[in-house]
Amino acid sequence: MEKFDAIVIGSGALGASTAFHLAKAGKSVALLDRAEIASQTSARAAGLSGQVRQTEVMTKLAMRAIDKIRRFAEETGEEIEYFQPGSMSVARFPEHAAMLQERLALAKNLGLDVDMISPDHAHELNPFLATKGIVAVAYMRQDIFLEPVQVPRGYANGAKRLGAVLLPHTHVSEIVVENGAVSRVVTDRGDLAAKTIVDAAGGWLSLVASFAGSNVPVVAMRHQLMITAPIEGVETTQPITRIIDANVYVRPDKGGLMFGGYEKDPKPVDVSQMSPSFRIEDLELDLSVLKRLTETVKDQLPIFQQDLKLQEHRGGLPTMTTDGHHILGEAPGAKGLYVLGGCNVGGLSIAPALGEQLAELIVNGRTELDLSPMALDRFAAGMSESEMLEKCRERYVHYYTFRFKDNFSAAAA
Ligand SMILES: Cc1cc2nc3c(=O)[nH]c(=O)nc-3n(C[C@H](O)[C@H](O)[C@H](O)COP(=O)(O)OP(=O)(O)OC[C@H]3O[C@@H](n4cnc5c(N)ncnc54)[C@H](O)[C@@H]3O)c2cc1C
Repeated sequence: MEKFDAIVIGSGALGASTAFHLAKAGKSVALLDRAEIASQTSARAAGLSGQVRQTEVMTKLAMRAIDKIRRFAEETGEEIEYFQPGSMSVARFPEHAAMLQERLALAKNLGLDVDMISPDHAHELNPFLATKGIVAVAYMRQDIFLEPVQVPRGYANGAKRLGAVLLPHTHVSEIVVENGAVSRVVTDRGDLAAKTIVDAAGGWLSLVASFAGSNVPVVAMRHQLMITAPIEGVETTQPITRIIDANVYVRPDKGGLMFGGYEKDPKPVDVSQMSPSFRIEDLELDLSVLKRLTETVKDQLPIFQQDLKLQEHRGGLPTMTTDGHHILGEAPGAKGLYVLGGCNVGGLSIAPALGEQLAELIVNGRTELDLSPMALDRFAAGMSESEMLEKCRERYVHYYTFRFKDNFSAAAA
């Protein structure tokens, strides 16, 4: 049986980043995926960064991730293209304006280049944003966007260059635990041994953890976006624009506009009930969800009231947690099983830092940053399935207000 220092299950942004950073630390690594490498939810993301996050530790990690994207080619040997027009968060109600102001003051203290700007200035930066109904706008100048597949593919290729073994089309069906510690995985291409196994299985996170008897409480939620055909006047210098109470985002893409958002009646998906051959490309999409969301911002984004042709409609399965924090750490009860997920629809842009942190934890047994808010043991024992589902649903439905509302310093303490 082939033996590695570490086996990483899942080659999305989170798994590929972890594999790269473990290989960089000199570990022998196998990166496994039941599908093609870097082909599932990560490849379908919007590719937006949002460095102002709900807690201080998440904001620091999101900032670190952007710094690593800037140095990506140097660090991984893989080219990456990104645009840095910044992002704008738009408030249509006074309580959201106050929330943004408060959050920006905290973000500024961490060194982010952020300011409140006038609605007219926001319109100058993004001419597709009309000023009607806008109360306040926060401008985060260092935010970026990119074609998402570059992140997992780049890290997977970078890991391979450092000696990691990439195993696409390799389905893990069992994690063997002996005397309380993981020892090997069973796959449809044979068994592989390692004392460290990373579950970075995205929408399958809970299912894979359950192979080792671990309970990882996340809900996979369908999330979709559309990209219009090219529109005259769209430029990559126009900032990402988020309308926070409506929970929608827009950015330039391929000459057109990308539009995505968080609907009030989201669709949880239990992958354990899907056929074993299910792939993200088989996920049933529903364009009417996005059409309804465009209606909620017709005064601010009137362009979407026109009969626009689409060049793409895509979706995937990000995972929500009950508190909006990611999951990063060792699974209680299964020594050597590390879990990285609960991306809360923000895992692609923070993956460079989360993979680095997890590798640090695995290699050194600790991280310099206090990552206890992301530990698995934070979840209350005994929370019912329906309670968990409801909390995750609420996180999704009020996505941006949660991002800007939570008690930043207290949550980071
Ligand atoms: C439409 C959309 C827009 C988004 N926009 C953004 C954004 O702008 N910014 C942002 O940061 N995030 C965004 N996200 C979220 C982002 O896509 C996720 O946070 C990120 O992709 C999570 O990466 P992952 O590695 O956990 O998951 P994945 O990319 O899904 O990777 C998990 C992998 O595990 C593999 N796997 C599962 N089970 C097994 C098994 N048993 N054996 C072997 N392999 C297995 C799967 O095949 C898969 O390839 C968006 C998501 C969607 C759907």
